[in-house]
Amino acid sequence: MPNLNCPVINNYYLMRRCNRCSETKKGISFYNNKGRLSYTCKKCQYSLNSTWLKKHKLKRKRWDRNYRLQKEYGITTNQFNKILLKQNGKCRIRRSNSPGRGHENFNVDHKHGTKVVRGLLCFDCNTGIGKLKDNPVLIRRALRYLERN
Ligand SMILES: [Zn+2]
Ligand SMILES: [Zn+2]
Repeated sequence: MPNLNCPVINNYYLMRRCNRCSETKKGISFYNNKGRLSYTCKKCQYSLNSTWLKKHKLKRKRWDRNYRLQKEYGITTNQFNKILLKQNGKCRIRRSNSPGRGHENFNVDHKHGTKVVRGLLCFDCNTGIGKLKDNPVLIRRALRYLERN
């Protein structure tokens, strides 16, 4: 019988029940920290870690978005959501339900040079008025042009 107090030998000979998947596995399937085997097997530990990582990444992404919204437009994600709710979840111009072109969120349309938010627009509308320099004079002219022709 090998010396089971030796951590290395222990790894190979000791059977251990994982307290997560309840499978009994060889010691080698568990992480060994200075001779003490972990309670969960490597496989379970791995999936626990990746679940944590996914959650963490999502949290990080939300945090980043909130930061960007505040920095660029002076609004929080909560305020963004409130505006979207007021707009019934639709673009203010085209009334589309989707931000369009694979975008996850509607664009925050703001007065140039300021942080004054006018509303949320889909990608196409935001680009559209942007191409006409967000200029009511030009947009009115374009409107007259379209209606006359
Ligand atoms: Zn397990
Ligand atoms: Zn739109």
